Amino acid sequence: MQGMMMDAPLLISSIAEHAAKNHGDREIMSITADNPEHRYTYRECFARSKQLANALDRLGMNRGDRVATLAWNDYRHLEMYYGVSGAGYVCHTINPRLFPEQLVFIINHAEDRWIFTDLMFVPLLESIADKISRVEGFVVMTDAAHMPESSLSNMLCYETLLAAESSDYTWPDLDERCASSLCYTSGTTGDPKGVLYDHRSTILHAYAGVAPDVLGLSSLDCIMPVVPLFHVNAWGTPYSAVMVGAKIVFPGPKMGDGETLCKLIQAEGVSVTLGVPTVWLAVLQYAEKAGKRLDHLQRAIVGGAAVPQSMIKEFRDKHGVEVRQGWGMTEMSPLGAVNSIKAGLDGLSDQQSLDLATRAGRGIFGVELRIVDDDGNELPWDGEAYGALQVRGPWVCSDYFRLGGSAGAHTDDGWFDTGDVATIDAEGYMAITDRTKDVIKSGGEWISSIELENVAMDHPAVAEAAVIGLAHPKWTERPLLVVVKAEGQDVGKEEMLAWYKGKVATWCVPNDVVYIDELPHTATGKVKKIELRRQFADYQFPN
Ligand code: AMP
Repeated sequence: MQGMMMDAPLLISSIAEHAAKNHGDREIMSITADNPEHRYTYRECFARSKQLANALDRLGMNRGDRVATLAWNDYRHLEMYYGVSGAGYVCHTINPRLFPEQLVFIINHAEDRWIFTDLMFVPLLESIADKISRVEGFVVMTDAAHMPESSLSNMLCYETLLAAESSDYTWPDLDERCASSLCYTSGTTGDPKGVLYDHRSTILHAYAGVAPDVLGLSSLDCIMPVVPLFHVNAWGTPYSAVMVGAKIVFPGPKMGDGETLCKLIQAEGVSVTLGVPTVWLAVLQYAEKAGKRLDHLQRAIVGGAAVPQSMIKEFRDKHGVEVRQGWGMTEMSPLGAVNSIKAGLDGLSDQQSLDLATRAGRGIFGVELRIVDDDGNELPWDGEAYGALQVRGPWVCSDYFRLGGSAGAHTDDGWFDTGDVATIDAEGYMAITDRTKDVIKSGGEWISSIELENVAMDHPAVAEAAVIGLAHPKWTERPLLVVVKAEGQDVGKEEMLAWYKGKVATWCVPNDVVYIDELPHTATGKVKKIELRRQFADYQFPN
């Protein structure tokens, strides 16, 4: 027997409609390249999203077409989230920190028709314009007074584009399974891979995000996402924060600036903030130096990389702020596990609760977790057994965009293999112990170890090279190059590191190189990275 409930599609535009009606006066504050303090209301935001939707229709977009953004966190980027997806197009958020070849690959692979860009990325786009010739035009997200001189063809001004349109617009009735947004991950080897979210997955993920034991968001909150809008939809906050009607603070291009973030927390009354560990290090350092306390802040959701215990302790002891560690992936929208306290564990000692908070988190409803051994057998949740971490659920990707299953990331029984290795304890708390994917996560951004190894191997004095990620106090992880010299050849540290100049982005160059006689190998001749990481577990990078 079927139930007798309405069949209402879960659409991103329904969040906009709800928010404009129910929280129309709520404020959104942004720092932008053209305004250090922009303020307006939800009502204005969603009226402008409709103007944008009208403008996109007029540009001749068809359902499912990709419209890209190259932008920091601010109100115009939020308008894109709703205007593009709500109108039935796909909002493709691009990470401007990727190196130019990756940008070219991503833009061409996604077949972006238009790129909406912040002022400061115009020169970057100019430098690759001849390689992305299928893009029909560029919209600079600023007003007419700030429009730059540029060699980009067909370049429009965002404010002029919107001003020509009415805010009268009826969001189309879309199929909830149609694509809403696209984000590429370079978190594995090879070309970046596109994760294509749909309206349904986005709404379900946002519902999960607001729950008390997950991000715990309410209309009383003031939320500052420091995780970029170009990185997995800022962990869903553009939807979840708007869904509950919280005040939103966007730091714009100041996302890495501890002083600005600290001031925003104080001046705007930020109660919940989210970002990778590297960002909080800058905030905590500034607060310490300037003798500031993060008074209004109740909760910092920190994830995307392992969170050091010292950070959790400093937030708690000096500022009275709860750190909730989160674990997830671009492929998972991204929320998978969040470290909130569970009934029965509230009587823990100080040290025990810190130890618990250092784990990645417990699975949230909507994402199933399992750990398996090399033969695919499920391992016990005893906190000891470790194995490949696999997930499944309605906001986990079923494949990558246009790869037709060739990535091999899914198991035969329908689970997604995360490339992380983990333990899960009897209470369900998961801890990441290693990674099977050959990448290093530095300050929240991926570096491919294989790419760095290939560059090293091209040096005539190198017989074999391996790159491993090791703990770093500021960037969480940095690459260490381990080299076996070719017989009778010599190469010094400086020369070896200088070899990378012009071959990879500066921030990807290994921090140090060590020379050893032999690398550990598996039976099939691959370098045993786990063994190598163990060998260098006590290594410390030079200052
Ligand atoms: P991304 O797709 O860029 O968000 O990266 C996802 C990956 O970041 C995961 O597969 C992990 O390797 C890593 N990661 C995310 N959160 C954590 C965490 N709390 N602890 C350790 N690693 C994490």
